Amino acid sequence: MNQYLFVLLSFVHVLADPDFAKLDGAPPSKIAVVGAGIGGTATAHFLRQHFGPEVRIDVFERGSVGGRLATVTVNHQDYESGGSIIHSLNLHMQDFVQQLGLKYRKSVAGKTAVFNGDEFILEETDWYLLDLFRLWWRYGISFIRLQMWVEEIMEKFMRIYKYQAHGYAFSSVEELLHSLGGSGFINMTRRSLSESLLELGVSQRFIDEVIAPIMRVNYGQNISIPAFVGAVSLAGAQANLWAVEGGNKLVCSGLLKLAKANLIRSPVATITLRSTGDYQQYELTYDSQNEKSSELYDIVVVATPLQQNINSGISFQGFEPQLSEIAGSYHQTVASIIHGYLNCSYFGFPDPKLFPFSSILTTDTPGLFFNSAASVCPVNITSGFRRKQPQEAGVYKVFSPKPLEKSELKTLFKSYYSVQVTDWLAYPHYGSSQGLPPVVLHENLYFLNGMEWAGSAMEMSSVAAKNIALLAYHRWNRQLEMIDQKDLMHKVKTEL
Ligand SMILES: Cc1cc2nc3c(=O)[nH]c(=O)nc-3n(C[C@H](O)[C@H](O)[C@H](O)COP(=O)(O)OP(=O)(O)OC[C@H]3O[C@@H](n4cnc5c(N)ncnc54)[C@H](O)[C@@H]3O)c2cc1C
Repeated sequence: MNQYLFVLLSFVHVLADPDFAKLDGAPPSKIAVVGAGIGGTATAHFLRQHFGPEVRIDVFERGSVGGRLATVTVNHQDYESGGSIIHSLNLHMQDFVQQLGLKYRKSVAGKTAVFNGDEFILEETDWYLLDLFRLWWRYGISFIRLQMWVEEIMEKFMRIYKYQAHGYAFSSVEELLHSLGGSGFINMTRRSLSESLLELGVSQRFIDEVIAPIMRVNYGQNISIPAFVGAVSLAGAQANLWAVEGGNKLVCSGLLKLAKANLIRSPVATITLRSTGDYQQYELTYDSQNEKSSELYDIVVVATPLQQNINSGISFQGFEPQLSEIAGSYHQTVASIIHGYLNCSYFGFPDPKLFPFSSILTTDTPGLFFNSAASVCPVNITSGFRRKQPQEAGVYKVFSPKPLEKSELKTLFKSYYSVQVTDWLAYPHYGSSQGLPPVVLHENLYFLNGMEWAGSAMEMSSVAAKNIALLAYHRWNRQLEMIDQKDLMHKVKTEL
């Protein structure tokens, strides 16, 4: 191409694309990540991989590293109080654990039953074939239809790992979902789970007695949640689940170290756009040892929800037009970790020795005050570990929509030594907002937690983290051909 024509075309390209203010080709010198949960720490790790060793990466955290991955201590042992289980096909989480030299903690086997407020309506036995027969007897082939549906969705979702390994990024959650499962995936974020399952031929009885209890334990919500997050939740109810030995939050502190990121233990108060000619940066203000400090950054990733009821305390200033408010709210779920004796009589078993279940799910029965109750294992399991029997004092995790009242605790437990309550704004309140939040808030300002509105899980935050690192890198270097590409299945097959 004629040299002058090339220069002219490049200039026209930059003018036509006001999103890209960086003109000199220099790498960024400073990047900020706000939030040190799994989303923020994974972002720091992937940013380091893509931008190299020179860039300074500061991660701000106002609370504890890990965010919604947290533990509480009972009798000198730690138990997960937030995000606890990881699916065997969550490849980013697996990769982090391997790179950090952490260990897998497998779930300890135990039986589950579904309680409707009066009695158990579904009970797992020791006999796999008997359980299958009972499912078939009660629900016909609904459970086979469901399994095939979840597997098909997971198979499509797994494409993301291939796309990300080839370096492709997406500028919105919709683009990302569309590349994986076409308009079907987008529709699944808009239609309710119950509607989708009924259309699939799953029976109403199966939805009420099996699917609803799974939604209640995983998201504290009912079967009107969108089908996509419903499928994420159902995948999390399968076998082959694991957690991180020592606590899932170890992944977050490990990733910060691996990324050689600076952890700044301060709340970010403002993010202000500062322009010098064509060059734009973001000024973050934060409290440091009771003094207001500020710093300029080339790229900023906000890795915490920004919805109003989360109260992130971050205000955006100097943006013209102003950044729109992120709609919706987060759902309250209370995790109570209780050390005591389960009241098996309440569940119809006067003799606790005969109570065979370690995990109790509940149906969506009006007035039922808890979502689930389960005997839990500590984050460190020794080789001889066994679950406590119901006649012994054990550690239980109860999820409920509100803090349990004393009378409710007395209903569930004959007696108890301790109760530790974590009142979470746990995950999006699905249905509180239409559409999915944006990923790109401004030229080099990104928002990670929009992904949670497709499905909230550690792996979803990790996928979002990799996507934002790639997106920030390609936008900074104007490699537009790596963003929002269509027909990626075909492209990655033909690429080396
Ligand atoms: C009870 C419960 C059970 C769950 N179970 C599972 C499960 O079994 N499996 C699973 O995969 N997922 C589960 N999840 C969901 C999972 O935990 C979350 O999706 C995931 O941890 C979100 O990580 P994140 O980094 O995106 O957000 P967060 O963990 O919320 O991190 C955001 C961080 O930003 C910080 N922050 C906020 N504002 C500021 C500010 N102004 N300045 C500086 N820092 C700030 C916060 O303190 C926080 O640490 C569960 C969640 C809960 C609450």
